[in-house]
Amino acid sequence: MSATVPRLSRRLEVVSPSPTIQMMMEAKALRARGVDVIDFGPGEPDFNTPDNVKLAGQDAIGRDFSHYTDPSGIVELRAAIAARYRSLYGGDWTDAEVMTGVGGKNVLFLLAMSLFDPGDRVGIYAPYWVSFPEQVRLCGAEPVILRCEETPEGPIPRARELETRAGDLKAVILNSPCNPSGAVIPGDEVERFVALSERTGLILISDETYDAFHYGRGAFASFAAQAKRVRDRLVIVNSLSKAYAMTGWRVGYALGPKPILDGMKKIQSHDATHTAACAQAAALEALRGPQDSVARMRDEYRRRRDELVPALNRVRGVTCPMPGGAFYVFPDVRGAMRALDCGSSAALVQRLMTEIAVAAVPGEAFGAPGHLRLSYALAPDRMREGVARLRRLLGEKPE
Ligand code: PMP
Repeated sequence: MSATVPRLSRRLEVVSPSPTIQMMMEAKALRARGVDVIDFGPGEPDFNTPDNVKLAGQDAIGRDFSHYTDPSGIVELRAAIAARYRSLYGGDWTDAEVMTGVGGKNVLFLLAMSLFDPGDRVGIYAPYWVSFPEQVRLCGAEPVILRCEETPEGPIPRARELETRAGDLKAVILNSPCNPSGAVIPGDEVERFVALSERTGLILISDETYDAFHYGRGAFASFAAQAKRVRDRLVIVNSLSKAYAMTGWRVGYALGPKPILDGMKKIQSHDATHTAACAQAAALEALRGPQDSVARMRDEYRRRRDELVPALNRVRGVTCPMPGGAFYVFPDVRGAMRALDCGSSAALVQRLMTEIAVAAVPGEAFGAPGHLRLSYALAPDRMREGVARLRRLLGEKPE
């Protein structure tokens, strides 16, 4: 019997599968064949969910907290999210202005579905997180890729880049600390984006998924601190995935104007409905319970970053800025590509995988060819071994 493939939706023609997830599967397959892979690919903490959070999830199951909830999430969780933003950044959203979902990714998608029509143009700075342009495309809208300014702390989005184009765009998606670069938008630049939005009506979407991993002095410059000025057109997206090592629980959230959130809620009511009830209970404990695990993770990642960046800068053909946040570095590897005769960073990644069993994600995936994303969410001895392999293959920079 010959199987026929049904005609799939045209929507699929505009998107590609997530390259970061593809890389994760490739490294896994190689490891299954017994290869000792050093995996710089992970997009999640190498820590486990804190015990108090796990227990809260178990307890919720035990007491049959397992029925449908409000599509935007239980009110206690939404209030705890509003309280987190209030205490950290001075945001004054209420629980009615918070929406939770099945991870930040789901929340961002609901947001895109609620805002973007075919023909709309949405600004996204490169390097960008892989799902931003794909979600915009899935809505039939058009991602407009904007350039960052290269600095010693990595590529920084500047409002100036938008000055002449804001009228042409419906929204801009910003992500600080950034996946893949780890770069953090400084407070004065956040202020410039807010001023531009005030002047032009541009909608600001601020993905602050990595706000807990901020290594600079002083508080992280959240858009929440300026929210009052652009209350009707600022949406902040965040997640418990990274800050509380809860990637598999799937809890993300948005804070923003009620009309936009109501739109998201309407769509969610026909989609996932809400994230699992027990995951919401666990998330509530994560936010309300002791916060020492967050600080412990942050301190450990800062230590690894401080070791990894100088070590990478000693490898020939690699130039690595010192990013201010997240758990990624995003070195320029054009020198290494030339040395190994690789025409793209994707080709370099293949060489690294087959010759020294080092896995990384190529810059092309993030709209920034000539770079690699290396995650340091791996054991420090593995990280050191990975850099040693790179040094053996590429050589050491002359002093
Ligand atoms: N935004 C950014 C920038 C991310 O890197 C990620 C996860 N890789 C997410 C959102 C979504 O994470 P989650 O769906 O696990 O909350």
